[in-house]
Amino acid sequence: ILKVENLTKSYGKGEVKVDALKNINLSINKGEFVAIVGPSGSGKSTLLHLLGGVDKPTSGKVFINDVDIYTLKEKDLSIFRRRNVGLIYQFYNLIPVLSAKENILLPAELDNRKIEKEYLDDLLKTLGLKERENHFPNELSGGQQQRTSIGRALINRPAIVLADEPTGNLDSKNSKEVLKLLKLSVKKYNQTLIMITHDNNIALQADRVITIEDGIIKVNEVI
Ligand code: ATP
Ligand code: MG
Repeated sequence: ILKVENLTKSYGKGEVKVDALKNINLSINKGEFVAIVGPSGSGKSTLLHLLGGVDKPTSGKVFINDVDIYTLKEKDLSIFRRRNVGLIYQFYNLIPVLSAKENILLPAELDNRKIEKEYLDDLLKTLGLKERENHFPNELSGGQQQRTSIGRALINRPAIVLADEPTGNLDSKNSKEVLKLLKLSVKKYNQTLIMITHDNNIALQADRVITIEDGIIKVNEVI
């Protein structure tokens, strides 16, 4: 479902040039749960952003469902991204003036997509947010806010879910809960999950662990 060819990304130039990714090749199957691990600054977030079409590579290609995404025009890319990719961040990036339910529905609204009530209710229930759907982000706990951001990432039923340390900001109880729900949801809809984590226990639950060091894939192993 995802293929990366000779992907490189450099930031800046001259003396401040940083080679964040160096010639990455990678292929990920539909339904796979892949964990990305590696030291701080090794290029994990850069890779995730490039996989999700939210950045531009310096060179190389990213294919999602055989579409060479960086050949798309900016506007087409953002539509393609909203339909096919769900993004979850460590800091939830919720919109403070929208309720939990409105935050979750936002990507669908941007696409003028109607969401069936059953699916929305099911998602809210799965994420344990049914009783909190009308609360604003500042009225939700950290775990509930993160579950809201997961709902927002899943609402369009994207084939690929990308998560950058989704539990990095949560205590261990909430972190377990969020991970469980995320795994449950992607399983239910046969989605591909690619997650950056510093937590070895989480990485071991994945189908495959990719270790990045200094912009290079050091280990790529099925577990
Ligand atoms: P962490 O675990 O700390 O989140 P990471 O593996 O996600 O680290 P990246 O954020 O991908 O690392 O950064 C890789 C390298 O690229 C780092 O050296 C970083 O300083 C650099 N970098 C990232 N974003 C930018 C940017 N917008 N401009 C310049 N350099 C950047
Ligand atoms: Mg990062």
